Amino acid sequence: MTKDFFQGPAQQAYSQDWLAFERDALWHPYSSLTNPITAYPVVSAHGVRLTLEDGRELIDGMASWWCVIHGYNHPSINQALHDQIEQVSHVMFGGLTHRPAAQLAARLIDITPPGLDKLFFADSGSVSVEVAIKMALQFWQAQGQANRTRLLTIRSGYHGDTFGAMSVCDPVGGMHSLFQEVLPQQFFVTAPGATLNSSDYSRSLDELEQTLRNDRNKIAAMILEPVVQGAGGMRFYPADYVKYARELCDRYDVLLIADEIATGFGRSGHLFACDAAGISPDILCVGKALTGGYMTLAATLTTQRVAEGICNGDPGVFMHGPTFMANPLACAAANASLELLFENGWFTQVSQIEAILNRELGQCIDLPAVKDVRVKGAIGVVELHEPVDMHSLPEQFVQRGVWIRPFRNLVYVMPPYVISEVDLNYLCITIRDILSAL
Ligand code: PMP
Repeated sequence: MTKDFFQGPAQQAYSQDWLAFERDALWHPYSSLTNPITAYPVVSAHGVRLTLEDGRELIDGMASWWCVIHGYNHPSINQALHDQIEQVSHVMFGGLTHRPAAQLAARLIDITPPGLDKLFFADSGSVSVEVAIKMALQFWQAQGQANRTRLLTIRSGYHGDTFGAMSVCDPVGGMHSLFQEVLPQQFFVTAPGATLNSSDYSRSLDELEQTLRNDRNKIAAMILEPVVQGAGGMRFYPADYVKYARELCDRYDVLLIADEIATGFGRSGHLFACDAAGISPDILCVGKALTGGYMTLAATLTTQRVAEGICNGDPGVFMHGPTFMANPLACAAANASLELLFENGWFTQVSQIEAILNRELGQCIDLPAVKDVRVKGAIGVVELHEPVDMHSLPEQFVQRGVWIRPFRNLVYVMPPYVISEVDLNYLCITIRDILSAL
């Protein structure tokens, strides 16, 4: 079948045709092809604004799932990509190397918590989590402790959609029931409460220690999202818990994996959320904002001890090697994005966003539909009593000129760091208006 609706200019008449085709044929994240929700056609994006095919502009409150920290179409990142395209867009990383990868590795080693000086480039967040898990498993195998095959994690987490990553997502909200028969069985402990003095907080510490004490011989690593649990429920918990987890992992000789795919590069108000706890994990995953949201790239960093442990054991190499590993374009975008992060003063940007979110979004707490409002860094979350209607709520936001994509009972913003006060106020006021009608 010819799809000649792709031949013409981007006009409304053509738009209807290709949109009907794509609605019928193309899966979106977590979507149905028989009862699809609307996907809005974007033709361009600049700064914090998305332009739809019909000419409407939306202020982006999501930074394209938390990645586009410097805004869209940024001249420096564009230039870095143009320059890199003129040199080499891709080359295999097996037996070949290039400066953009080495430069990026040096920068990441420099800015991440101390001790993480070995690095593996992966193609997405989920893959970097798989890589982290494999590092932990290979490490213990090489130590002659091959029975340490299981992971320990806290409930309400989210670590990705591949099988290893899925196995450590929240067992209720995640996909465990669907894939129960094939998912590795992991240890789960209660997610810490939001404050240090809550009773469920201290209970969660006891449970963590007990699990480590009883089952350390089976556990390869503990994996957690430090301080902010993202897609598992947008929960914040005290950095003290991460510090305590580090202490316990040391005491019981279990590796600690920090998944900073969502929190990395300033989002939580610290450059890395581990910095809030003053700890270094044994393995760290970063992704999402790494390239400023331009390309897919992630990295798994680890220590000398883990790297040596793996490489001195059998088979003497780390067993992973994706085709697009360390893609030069993605590395060039990441190098440019990291430069901007410091040039633009990420800390000031994030602190200003935090202040506005506290002031403006905080007012939602008085609305009857609202259960809780919480803000940390450039993350603002409004938790509702009931799940939202995903067929109607995003449409209402679009009609008001903003791009907010809620999930479950959570309406949240994680805007680009470059958002202006006026635009951020507008996002918050729009959320308040729409939620007040629920
Ligand atoms: N870990 C965390 C903490 C995440 O937030 C995500 C993505 N939301 C992932 C892992 C998976 O990353 P990706 O979607 O790039 O595979």
